[in-house]
Amino acid sequence: MASDNQRIYLDYNATAPIFPDVVQAVSQALGNLGNASSIHTEGRSVRGAIEDARDSVSKLIGVPASTIVFSSGGTEANTTVIRGLINSGAVHEIFCSAIEHPSVRDHVNPEHHIPVDNRGQIDLEQLHNILRGQEAPFLMCVMLANNETGVLQPIRDVSTLVHERGGLVLCDCVQGPGKSDLDFISLGADFLTFSAHKIGGPQGIGCIVMNSNSELEPILIGGGQEKERRSGTENAPGIVGFGAAARLTAETSNVGKVSELRDQLEAALLEAKSDAIIFGREGERIANTTNVAILGTSSERQLIKLDLAGFAVSAGSACSSGKIAPSHVLLAMGVSEEIAGSAIRISIGRETSWSELEKFVEIWATL
Ligand code: PLP
Repeated sequence: MASDNQRIYLDYNATAPIFPDVVQAVSQALGNLGNASSIHTEGRSVRGAIEDARDSVSKLIGVPASTIVFSSGGTEANTTVIRGLINSGAVHEIFCSAIEHPSVRDHVNPEHHIPVDNRGQIDLEQLHNILRGQEAPFLMCVMLANNETGVLQPIRDVSTLVHERGGLVLCDCVQGPGKSDLDFISLGADFLTFSAHKIGGPQGIGCIVMNSNSELEPILIGGGQEKERRSGTENAPGIVGFGAAARLTAETSNVGKVSELRDQLEAALLEAKSDAIIFGREGERIANTTNVAILGTSSERQLIKLDLAGFAVSAGSACSSGKIAPSHVLLAMGVSEEIAGSAIRISIGRETSWSELEKFVEIWATL
């Protein structure tokens, strides 16, 4: 049991704990008077705070600040790129990997979902074959790291293949920052999307990186903010919080330490239950994610028991109408429904300690 009323949070991929300094920065920004579009001193001061934050986010990602368009989060960022390109006529067809987040996958005809192999990585040969016959301008969407398994995708290879066929690439990087040391811009994608609450920033703010001149028809029409790409008065406190979280992530993230803890956790899980199955271990992964199944006990049952014992973890797939559906990601990897229905995701981060994970394994072993 986690000690008395002290809970142990192991669900960083759902949302990471907000940095205390971000809370302070956001609450200070909430008190600032002025609309960033106004010319007066108050307005210009808010504009300055937004541009400082844009600068910090751009430094974390490694791109020019001018390429960043703020949105209300990863979902809106993905939707804006996909619908914006379709609506402008820049692309006529969309493809995606079979393991994308629903904010991408649900825009794409299931016939255009590209399979993954049993390690959870997109099948490049299949992608090559499917794109060979592709005539019309198209968009290929592939995430940097899967939110359920942590498996990293071969984005550079995908970008090369897609660009050879004249297509564009959207890379959902929401689970990337602070969990890998990858250089985002060298991935070669045309559009990259991010979300602040996955890195210790506030919920409800994110961004698109525009690494392409392709026309995006805006989804939100109005005052022409964000260079006409996303109208609506900017969420200045959210943006300031995103900027602060980006700075803190750049300064404090320790990918090596987190991946050591994750490896230690996985060794302990397998020692406690030798028939447990850990998914995506064979491929390259971000540092913090373990997806593990124990046969014969449903994900739902495990989550409830763990929650009662003081641990916050997730099942792969979001809970809809009170029932947890087997994860589309594990099913796409060829895992049976029964096994996928007994998997849970443990995702750790900057505040996780080995003693917390030891307590977790002790309880998990009794499930
Ligand atoms: N993409 C991925 C890979 C995610 O994990 C998530 C959130 O879980 C999103 C997109 C959506 O981001 P947001 O919660 O900011 O809308």
